[in-house]
Amino acid sequence: KAFLDARGMAMQKKFGQNFMVNRASRQRLVDALDLAPDSRVWEIGPGLGAMTDEILKRGAKLSAFEIDRGFCAVLGEIFEDRPNFSLIPGDVLKNWLPAVERLGVPDCLFGNLPYNIAAAIIGDMISDGIRFNTVVITVQKEVALRMAAKPGTEDYSSFSVLCQWAYKVTPLMDLAGGCFWPRPNVTSKAIKMTKKDDWPSCQSPAIFMSILRGLFSSRRKTIKNNLSAWIAVSGRAPAGAEADALTRDILGRAGLDPSLRAEDLELANFLQLA
Ligand code: SAM
Repeated sequence: KAFLDARGMAMQKKFGQNFMVNRASRQRLVDALDLAPDSRVWEIGPGLGAMTDEILKRGAKLSAFEIDRGFCAVLGEIFEDRPNFSLIPGDVLKNWLPAVERLGVPDCLFGNLPYNIAAAIIGDMISDGIRFNTVVITVQKEVALRMAAKPGTEDYSSFSVLCQWAYKVTPLMDLAGGCFWPRPNVTSKAIKMTKKDDWPSCQSPAIFMSILRGLFSSRRKTIKNNLSAWIAVSGRAPAGAEADALTRDILGRAGLDPSLRAEDLELANFLQLA
């Protein structure tokens, strides 16, 4: 706070700025990356670089995405003589794809993510076929629970299936409000995701992701009703009797009971349907 005051800077709520001020937690999060000295890391939202410094000290090569111009200026000053640091100023949602095209996919993704865009970043990256070996992120607890949720539970959603399609998802630790400054009014949770060696492929990831959203679109409806609606909207058969007949045929061939709900299905079922 004193540092920001002295520079005439203020925290910006719209950018979800909460610094992780608990040293032990910062250490544990960086440890969870299992860095090798030549690892390439992307950090989303470094803020004033508290964890950036720790990662650089371990010899990794780090690119940081930061939207706040004031923070970018500070980061530039702090890390200007570190050859393993580079800054990508601006909105990560716009900048990450051009960065992949320019630099390739790094080994690790890291960040105490701005809460308002956390799910979008992770969802977009998986949807676009980007896989990191290791992801260690801090997100709002509800988002973390959805990422790690198992079938048949309340938190299980299309986002759970998407994350678990690409990664093994492991909850790391809860981070109470007091770990941050300013204190957020939500609880946070750190999560680790590791790339699956046997990443289950499917012929059309686009159809898989679309069916996934379709089947979860009305959680209370059966997979038969949601799939029939998806078939009609996707133009594969006219709504009504024809979409219903095609749905029954597809579910029959997949050996799935039409009265199940999306929350009852496992990843393999969604892939099979796609
Ligand atoms: N890493 C720091 C820490 O843990 O102390 C700060 C984390 S703070 C929760 C989120 C950071 O993400 C802030 O530095 C904020 O300015 C940045 N940020 C917010 N939206 C962003 C966006 N769209 N693109 C890049 N950075 C963003």
